[in-house]
Amino acid sequence: MTPRHTGEIWVFGDYRNYFQNRVTLQILAKAVDLAAATGGSVSAVVLGHRVEEWVGEYIAHGAQKVYVIDDAALASYSIETYAHLLHGLAREHRPETLLVGATRFGQELAPRVAKKLGTGLTADCIDLEIDAAGLLVQTAPSFGGNLIAKIITPHGRPQMATVRPGTFQELPHDDGANGEVLSLPLPADLPQQRVRLITSEHRPAKKRRIEDAAIVICGGRGMGSKGKFKKLFDLATLMGAEVGATRPVVYAEWAPHEALVGQAGKNIAPRVLLSFGISGAIQHTAALADADFIIAINKNPSATMMKLADVAIVADANQACLGIMKAIRERVRD
Ligand SMILES: Cc1cc2nc3c(=O)[nH]c(=O)nc-3n(C[C@H](O)[C@H](O)[C@H](O)COP(=O)(O)OP(=O)(O)OC[C@H]3O[C@@H](n4cnc5c(N)ncnc54)[C@H](O)[C@@H]3O)c2cc1C
Repeated sequence: MTPRHTGEIWVFGDYRNYFQNRVTLQILAKAVDLAAATGGSVSAVVLGHRVEEWVGEYIAHGAQKVYVIDDAALASYSIETYAHLLHGLAREHRPETLLVGATRFGQELAPRVAKKLGTGLTADCIDLEIDAAGLLVQTAPSFGGNLIAKIITPHGRPQMATVRPGTFQELPHDDGANGEVLSLPLPADLPQQRVRLITSEHRPAKKRRIEDAAIVICGGRGMGSKGKFKKLFDLATLMGAEVGATRPVVYAEWAPHEALVGQAGKNIAPRVLLSFGISGAIQHTAALADADFIIAINKNPSATMMKLADVAIVADANQACLGIMKAIRERVRD
């Protein structure tokens, strides 16, 4: 008889570029919510070498149990080995759900593991919830971002999803949290390495990622021109914020592609979002669900973005930007 699944929600520990990449902590926070709804528990999986630090970190962020394989053979990442190990662990310990960050690493790993486990996978989720039947409802953009699909995995287990960085907010670090650590040996049946790492070099991030910024200033076509849009970067420097942009702005090359916020770009979860001259199309606003407080500036009071905002200011976006900069500078001088 096939053993039952455990009700555990697993979160794969993607700890590379830790200070820029918070996705594992963000997913752990959501997993805590999901486990409260199902009566299940939250576990993290950590593979690598000298990984104690991450084990402690995941417990401090909501993991009740951590499955660890710590071995020198895992010091450099190999997709075949990691997929083999994660598949082996899931087959043996039978989690109900397995969540992976939609980083490049996770996007490479999750489909391989899903295929090996013979289960479904929803890529790039922007929300997760539990339905009345206890199934994981996985919300993801579909058909090139024109539809938002809600997907369930009725039969395959674990229910697998990758989640975009910035989709959820991490829980505060809890120093007093306790968790069980299950240290497991490296299995003997590792796949033969077809790729060998010769050398690697850490390239430091030039700036903070918009997904992790506490203040984001987003600009849209209503800014009027590249020169006027540039003022948003000056305002961001004054406020310690990052700049986001809508698709027309990126297409017009007023802002780089990495600033694109929306279904085709990044999800953001700032404490404060300032939105300048943005209409509020669904492809943009779908990425703002976790912004705590939104201030929208638009000359059209009926724009969707204005209705969505906590504070809506009817004004010329460019004039408002210059006015805020002036006010900040005056305050700094005082
Ligand atoms: C498959 C697909 C994927 C997409 N993905 C994305 C995505 O990831 N991100 C994204 O942003 N879009 C995306 N889009 C495009 C999206 O549908 C909208 O076209 C886009 O978000 C609109 O950008 P905007 O608000 O800057 O421009 P507009 O819709 O043109 O809005 C401009 C706003 O500025 C206001 N305005 C004009 N002048 C001023 C002024 N002087 N002062 C103040 N306000 C002013 C106007 O009232 C208006 O509300 C996608 C579309 C498709 C089809």
